Amino acid sequence: MSTVQAVRGMNDILPQASQVWQHVEQVLQNIFHTYSYREIRLPVIEKTELFARSIGEGTDIVAKEMYTFEDRNGESLSLRPEGTASCVRAGLEHGLFHNQTQRLWYMGPMFRHERPQRGRYRQFYQAGIEAFGWVGPDIDAEVIAVSSRIWRGLNLPQSPRLEINSLGDTETRQSYRAQLVAYLSDYENDLDVDSRQRLKTNPLRILDSKDAGTQKILEGAPSIRECLDEESSAHFDALCALLQQLDIAYTINQKLVRGLDYYNRTVFEWVTDELGAQGAVCAGGRYDSLVEQLGGKQRIPATGFALGLDRLVELVASLETIPDKDLDVYVIAIGTETKDKSWQYAETLRDHGYDVEMFCGDGSMKSQLKRADKSGALVSLLLGEDEVSSNSVTLKHMRRKNHQVTIPAVDLVRQLQEMVRE
Ligand code: ATP
Ligand code: MG
Repeated sequence: MSTVQAVRGMNDILPQASQVWQHVEQVLQNIFHTYSYREIRLPVIEKTELFARSIGEGTDIVAKEMYTFEDRNGESLSLRPEGTASCVRAGLEHGLFHNQTQRLWYMGPMFRHERPQRGRYRQFYQAGIEAFGWVGPDIDAEVIAVSSRIWRGLNLPQSPRLEINSLGDTETRQSYRAQLVAYLSDYENDLDVDSRQRLKTNPLRILDSKDAGTQKILEGAPSIRECLDEESSAHFDALCALLQQLDIAYTINQKLVRGLDYYNRTVFEWVTDELGAQGAVCAGGRYDSLVEQLGGKQRIPATGFALGLDRLVELVASLETIPDKDLDVYVIAIGTETKDKSWQYAETLRDHGYDVEMFCGDGSMKSQLKRADKSGALVSLLLGEDEVSSNSVTLKHMRRKNHQVTIPAVDLVRQLQEMVRE
């Protein structure tokens, strides 16, 4: 019979790799907390309408990447392709924006039906932060500072590069869109197929095109800077000044527009050269109208980022600096009477915080010792009938030759502490 395989683009994270994941997740959580962000846990499935209304019908994500299905009641639901829309939905639903600011973080799987390749999967993981209720450039700088601290917290030898841009207000984008379309229309036939399509649906996204021919044409395109409204321009200048003050290096990329419709003013992306074609590890920006767009009574300014954990873990894994957490004790019991006692000792050691593995099933002394050796445990606890009758235990140091002691059972923890410390 054939075996069942995982769905394409949806990966298993095996025990060895999950050690790196846990390390990365721990570092991220600590950093989020040091900036006073609090965790929000959100469902993996939402009403399709939520994403259509927030991310935008014309975006790649909603138009072709979502896992959408009807549930048994005929309601259209989707696996979440990102976290921001759910954050806003939950905030509105539970009154989190009512007369208060919020700093939130989330982490978990996201789903997009894309062509799987290195760094691009159909189930992938994001960690993100969202700050609600602040209009000024200081919170934009804070959000960027959080991401910047992550690279340091993980000891990445080379920090990803920060690119920033401003999309201004609605009028900025309207007038820029018109200028861009006017310019690109002259080259319509030389654009790649996707871009030609976007000329009608979502022209700003053409700036994101990876097609070499289109990129060449874009070199002469008008820049959004000239269309920036005065306030957005001041906001952007203040953000740049804050970043300089924080010693965070950046480049201004006038072609950075981001793939989601809800952004205004600040947008940014952290990019690395070390992951091949999928170089963006973290992306975000300001989305001041999203809360209102999703039914909020008021306009609640907001800003945040989403970080691609799969890509970040790949960067960290290549460093091999994650210390292996070794097993402390392997418990071996020979003889039927000894098994009960060995359970008791194993539990006592766990009460004291040691990681303990027990040999389960039947096995000779030799085969059990072999397992102990393979387990990587520092110490083996040996229990035979002699030990049980004299109320003692034997501890064998697995990394030293002939280092074995038999001691009264009451001294077990103390003796183990010593052996671990040595
Ligand atoms: P890309 O241009 O790589 O498609 P995006 O603009 O669609 O990225 P966002 O929606 O901003 O990405 O998501 C933020 C981050 O999540 C990305 O920078 C990336 O690190 C990660 N990410 C997005 N899609 C995937 C995916 N399919 N597989 C793995 N990571 C992803
Ligand atoms: Mg994408």
